[in-house]
Amino acid sequence: MKSVSVFGATGSIGCTAAKILKHQSDKFNVEVITGGSNVLQLAKTAIELDAKHVVIADESLLNELQKHLENHKITISAGRNALLEAASRPVDISLQGIVGFAGVECSLIAARSTKTLALANKESLVCAGPLLRSICTEHKTTLVPVDSEHSAIFQCLQGEDLRTVERIILTASGGPFLNTPMHELSDVTAEQAAAHPRWKMGLRISIDSASMFNKAMELIETKELFDISSDKLEVIVQPQSIIHSMVGFNDGAIMAHMGPADMTGAIGYALNYPNRETLPLERLDFSKLGRLDFVSVDPNKFPAIQIAEHVIELSGLAGAVFNAAKEQALDLFLSGHLGFLEMSLVVERAINEYAKNSHNRTVTLDDLIDIDNSTRRFIQKNVKGNCHV
Ligand code: NDP
Ligand code: MG
Repeated sequence: MKSVSVFGATGSIGCTAAKILKHQSDKFNVEVITGGSNVLQLAKTAIELDAKHVVIADESLLNELQKHLENHKITISAGRNALLEAASRPVDISLQGIVGFAGVECSLIAARSTKTLALANKESLVCAGPLLRSICTEHKTTLVPVDSEHSAIFQCLQGEDLRTVERIILTASGGPFLNTPMHELSDVTAEQAAAHPRWKMGLRISIDSASMFNKAMELIETKELFDISSDKLEVIVQPQSIIHSMVGFNDGAIMAHMGPADMTGAIGYALNYPNRETLPLERLDFSKLGRLDFVSVDPNKFPAIQIAEHVIELSGLAGAVFNAAKEQALDLFLSGHLGFLEMSLVVERAINEYAKNSHNRTVTLDDLIDIDNSTRRFIQKNVKGNCHV
């Protein structure tokens, strides 16, 4: 039996993980599960998984959680500090499924105390890639990606020599606006942007997929995870979302990872790594599938990809600026203060501002928190009324 903690257990990743842990209950002991504010879901999952300890990040909900769990032998704590304390508890596997910058410190702490860090929180690599990698090296922690593209690449690279890799080809679904003319994008609503045609995910990542900010994050994530030079990274739209990514080698061979658009595969792989176990996942039927298409990314419609290339070039704290700006721009879009296309203008402005004074040095957690705060303040100050950067 392996011990496992799930951070962000009430979210899309967390619920899929819970489904797998139930399916494989003979293989895992659940130590800690955490949620942000969804008390009901958290309590339900804690009981179903027989978790030893539960953390609710929103401190004001402690009493409510206690009520739901009063007849169970489950210990409870609440608040940000409790969350970070839970991350420091030693386990075999720590699954990081918190969304956004809120998950970064949690990953950095867990990387010191877990044997395997199963990482869904891509913000950890985008903001703190080198720091996270050095902690993993120092503590001999195995970092296994959960993001479907990175899990695909990781799987294609098993047993391979990284020096033989010629190219990494990230696939994108293209999101709900792949075929929408650019002039119609300025007025799209959050609801339209969140309606992902293939993947069922949390609200924020779904909208990031529509703007391709998600793919931009993943480009940086790939660079940080596999330490590959940016001229070897490519993005191609694969609208059916069957190929989850590809790796090209120096002999011209290309390995592609295929599967249904369901995170059960990537989460299950990370939880069971280095083994493969049977997973409750639909099997592909190629006769029904019929075809696989590939489409180039339109850089005018989706400028996020080029911004990410600039971020990779800048390195240092640029990833943290990019993430903070993107999170802030998304909040402004969700509250109706920014149009869909204006999000990339805001992020670009923040990156250009950073580039004026950027310096490449070792990044600490305090640096990350400072730049995250100052970037959000910069955007709040510069976006007035209905956009204007
Ligand atoms: P969701 O929004 O569905 O879930 C987010 C989780 O984080 C919830 O458990 C939420 O709690 C918790 N949370 C939110 N804010 C805080 C906070 N301040 N402190 C503590 N916990 C918090 O997100 P997803 O599951 O979609 O995504 C999670 C991460 O995985 C993201 O980084 C995303 O980019 C990445 N990812 C997701 C994929 C997917 O298929 N969903 C695919 C690949 C990567 P609550 O709901 O209780 O408030
Ligand atoms: Mg992904």
